[in-house]
Amino acid sequence: MGLEHRLGRMVKPADGCSLLRSSASDPFLKGCVLMKIHEYQAKELLKAAGVAVPAGEVANKPEEAAEAFDRLKTPLVVVKAQVHAGGRGKGIAVGPDDDHAAAYDIACGRKQRPEGVAKGVQLVKTKEETRKAAASLLGKKLITYQTGPQGQTISKVLVTVGHEIARELYLGMAVDRALHCPVVMASTEGGVEIEKVAHESPEKIERVPIDVGLGLLEFQGRKLSHALGLKGDTAKKGEKLFKGFVRLFLEKDASLAEINPLIVTGAGDVLALDCKLNFDDNALFRHPDVAILLDAAEEDPAELRAARSGLSYVSLDGNIACLVNGAGLAMSTMDLIKYHGGEPANFLDVGGGASKEQVLEGFRILLSSPNVKAVLVNIFGGIMQCDIIAAALLVAYDEIDFRVPLVVRLEGTNVEAGMKLLKDSGRKIITATGLTDAAQQVVAAAKGQE
Ligand code: GDP
Ligand code: MN
Repeated sequence: MGLEHRLGRMVKPADGCSLLRSSASDPFLKGCVLMKIHEYQAKELLKAAGVAVPAGEVANKPEEAAEAFDRLKTPLVVVKAQVHAGGRGKGIAVGPDDDHAAAYDIACGRKQRPEGVAKGVQLVKTKEETRKAAASLLGKKLITYQTGPQGQTISKVLVTVGHEIARELYLGMAVDRALHCPVVMASTEGGVEIEKVAHESPEKIERVPIDVGLGLLEFQGRKLSHALGLKGDTAKKGEKLFKGFVRLFLEKDASLAEINPLIVTGAGDVLALDCKLNFDDNALFRHPDVAILLDAAEEDPAELRAARSGLSYVSLDGNIACLVNGAGLAMSTMDLIKYHGGEPANFLDVGGGASKEQVLEGFRILLSSPNVKAVLVNIFGGIMQCDIIAAALLVAYDEIDFRVPLVVRLEGTNVEAGMKLLKDSGRKIITATGLTDAAQQVVAAAKGQE
């Protein structure tokens, strides 16, 4: 997977991101990257905000799912794999011996689905079927068009009351950077991939910009109802739901919320059948109730470890690790590595500073990937002086077993003193002058390790 692909993935999992031109083009829109929660957690938040959701229970074992069936007392039950990815309905649960690549082709609609393969969302009618459905999912990996062929482990299922669907609608909300405010998006084309609707018939998506101080106004609620074709009592129920949905988004500093499908039942009720919620991780400090919902098993372990020490880390697929300070420098460093024929394995941004502890932890995270064949340190010493950075690098070098070549390029305040420290240190550190030299040296060093 190339960098473009990877950055694409960063904004992809949340469908609505791609509806907003500006956010889709911004790879550092962290709110779309980190802090996703499961459907069952999102539904609990929705319910608390006054949005109608089907009743349900979470199960970790097939037997628990079967017991939940009894408690739900309903003729139709839906068993749903809980993973941080959409497209579960068309997804496939696989075991370790199954062909992941073939399953991915099926989940993406490129190959026909054979009979009998377990979908990520299953409608069942009896206690025994519920147990079977849960057993076909729990402990397996779910592969959907959003997970890639490796899939995501299913450790929980949601057992929920099934509803008869009269209409499937779409309701979403995201921050529109061009409009400088959140926007509610509604469409009558629910249940399908909303990206497709946005691409093929954008006029079918109603957009309502929201003033964060006012929330959803009455007339805006009516506008959404009208766009969705809701009438009479159903429209009233819809407007109550829209209000709660918008309030939840604003109160919890969500970055993206999607109800797909939002359904109208035969009896005229409006319900959120599915929900995805992402949060702005920069605002998580004021939402401890949301922060505890993080499921570490769903995150890239290195990215999580970096986030915990205040570092920004992104895993990629190449073999050159990059330690930089600043997102712009990270981008240009990766461009240069690629320009000179290399592939970045990851990048780690230590931000404005580069303390000894940060550099140490940064190296540990970078070197934790077995793909890494060389490391490039590219740091601009502005406020932080280059000789101090060089000293921190030397301490880190001695504390960590550097199994691969290390190339360092420093620029900025006290650069001569910093470079002299590295050169005179007697360590096997390759010093580079300028970005091009650094990129060429690290690409050559990585090639030399193969
Ligand atoms: P996703 O595929 O990951 O987006 O999962 P969803 O929760 O959206 O479920 C996928 C599809 O399963 C929905 O679009 C519905 O068509 C179907 N589905 C889910 N729940 C129900 C239900 O209660 N009743 C019926 N009839 N279909 C359901
Ligand atoms: Mn859905």
